Amino acid sequence: MNDMQSIYDLQMTDLEIRDIYSELDDIARKLSSDQDLMVINGRLEKINKALEAQESDRRQKEREISELESKISELQGMLYDGIITNEKELQALEEQKGYASEELTSKEDDLLELMIEIEKLIDSRDKHSEAVQKLLARKSSDLIHLSARKKDLTSDLDKKQSERQALALDVPADLLSLYEKLKKNKSGHAVSKLEGRLCSVCRVELPVKELQDAKAGIRLVQCNSCRRIIYAS
Ligand SMILES: [Zn+2]
Repeated sequence: MNDMQSIYDLQMTDLEIRDIYSELDDIARKLSSDQDLMVINGRLEKINKALEAQESDRRQKEREISELESKISELQGMLYDGIITNEKELQALEEQKGYASEELTSKEDDLLELMIEIEKLIDSRDKHSEAVQKLLARKSSDLIHLSARKKDLTSDLDKKQSERQALALDVPADLLSLYEKLKKNKSGHAVSKLEGRLCSVCRVELPVKELQDAKAGIRLVQCNSCRRIIYAS
């Protein structure tokens, strides 16, 4: 029966149109999603802030070290230039120099630890920056690829929609309205191909009379179980 062939072809076209829409939605989502880039940029921002704070800390420590070095050198001068000869004063200067040297050692250790932390942060910043660059490059290549695919799909969609219009004209109005109703309830699959004696969708066997009529194409046969329109090729 030609009507059954037409309705089956109509379903195939509708399913193809549905797939095109679904892929177009997918592309639109991919093109508008910057979630991954936002996450990695957020991390990079945190690293940069931490790095800025550590660098400022480092400059402060370096200033303190330089001041201590000047102080020690000044004390050293006072101790050995021979101007101060009083033993007690010399002893006091020696003690001051000792304290300053201890403080210097401690500050140098702190600076060293800080430098190690800064190096780690720089390493992490470089890795994140590299990841951002890679991601941007990938996105730009995706954009080219996805835009081309979108163009092809849009043209396919136009073609399929014209085909659909032409096919729908061949289907009698009552059959078309039954198809549309079933399509809504059966997630697009209103027509079921006959497989031997079975409805290919719900796998229930057709009664002999229905089977013969469907095969002969003399009338519209619906599956007794799922109510889909039976199409016998
Ligand atoms: Zn069925």
